[in-house]
Amino acid sequence: MTSIRVFTGRNVLLPDHDTPVPATIHIDKSTGKIANIQPGVADKSSYTHLGDGDFIDAGSKLIIPGLVDAHVHLNEPGRTDWEGFYTGTRAAASGGITAVVDMPLNSIPPTTTVANLEVKRSAARGQCWIDVAFWGGVVPGNEADLKPLVEAGVKGFKCFLIESGVEEFPCVAQGDVIKAMNELQSLPTVLQFHAELGDPPAPPSSSNPRAYATYLSTRPASLELSAIELITSLQATQPAPRCHIVHLSASSALPLVRAAKAKGLNLTVETCFHYLCLSAEDVGEGGVEFKCCPPIRGETNRDALWAALREGAIDMVVSDHSPCVAELKKPEEGDLLGAWGGVSTLGLGLSALWTEGRKRGVGVAEVVRWMSERTAAHAGLGDRKGAIRPGYDADLVVWDPEAVFTVTKESLNFKNKLSPYEGMTLSGRVERTYLRGQLVYDYKTKFGGLEPAGLLL
Ligand SMILES: [Zn+2]
Repeated sequence: MTSIRVFTGRNVLLPDHDTPVPATIHIDKSTGKIANIQPGVADKSSYTHLGDGDFIDAGSKLIIPGLVDAHVHLNEPGRTDWEGFYTGTRAAASGGITAVVDMPLNSIPPTTTVANLEVKRSAARGQCWIDVAFWGGVVPGNEADLKPLVEAGVKGFKCFLIESGVEEFPCVAQGDVIKAMNELQSLPTVLQFHAELGDPPAPPSSSNPRAYATYLSTRPASLELSAIELITSLQATQPAPRCHIVHLSASSALPLVRAAKAKGLNLTVETCFHYLCLSAEDVGEGGVEFKCCPPIRGETNRDALWAALREGAIDMVVSDHSPCVAELKKPEEGDLLGAWGGVSTLGLGLSALWTEGRKRGVGVAEVVRWMSERTAAHAGLGDRKGAIRPGYDADLVVWDPEAVFTVTKESLNFKNKLSPYEGMTLSGRVERTYLRGQLVYDYKTKFGGLEPAGLLL
């Protein structure tokens, strides 16, 4: 007889349901897959042969599918003092994430060749608390590496249309994009763009480098518009794989996105928790922990991003967790022009989005669609992640949407504990995260007695 584990509860979020329903999920422990799902709550007395550890009753708490964060920078090897597979995946597990897709830059080497991908995989092996997949990178001159990277398992590619911030990952010009589109056009992959294009304007000479408005003036929305104009015009005129805009911030670019989608261009768009949950008005003088590129913009912009997400112009929400060491953020100096750009979020995304979303009438099914189903499909993992469905990985999160907590430095599980969310009170706490049916995080005991169980996908 197959050895099974049972999850039951009154509020299980199943695919194609707008609200959670009572259900019982049977897991095949030998494969970590969902064997079947039955309607209604089960009673332990029907499973007398199971030990307590194999019968999990969530009661009235929600059971939701494990989340997939398709945009994180784990920075290992090479900049492991910034993050790392071990700490980054623990932070993810604490936030109900059961798979992350690591960006090709900020590690050394960057993921721009198969040999470099293997270096990263070797560094990751044995350290991952949840599953990890990799994006490849497009840089000038590596077009011959792209198909081999697809064959080696990268889920897609990322390129920059503006300086990336690290010298080993240079940005591409239009000619490089065309070469990449040609190489990848018939493959089951995606070409992602850091969509800012043009020279960032210099700040006025007398401006205060500690004022957020000064930084904001150097990353205008027009840079995002120029990039999206280029991407969609190339898509319209030449064969290309699906194209994807990472971390859209400027709501003024949404008409371009809507027009491209209406024309039938194969385009998807993500935005980030920080563009939806924070705004320029929140940033105090010297607030370097809020600095990222493109920047967090004003309140009206934020409202427009929410509307676009709900309407479908924006498809999904990711963290773009991009930490660095304190010496590069220099919080004591508060120099918004000189500080490294990147927001640290891993572990907080679900609570942040839920806290803000419920004020706007968003339901849990929408949040999970944006953070799990859509991101899994985007990263080519839609046949095993992103839903509670028979045959899928039994990645399950027991979640209490009503629990309220305050974010403290000590509660952060990533390596460099500087985050704009510190001090905020958030709703919705991950109680336990299960990867393929196996416990990988418990909010009461954290990681005590548990082992990294993640696979490299
Ligand atoms: Zn990023």
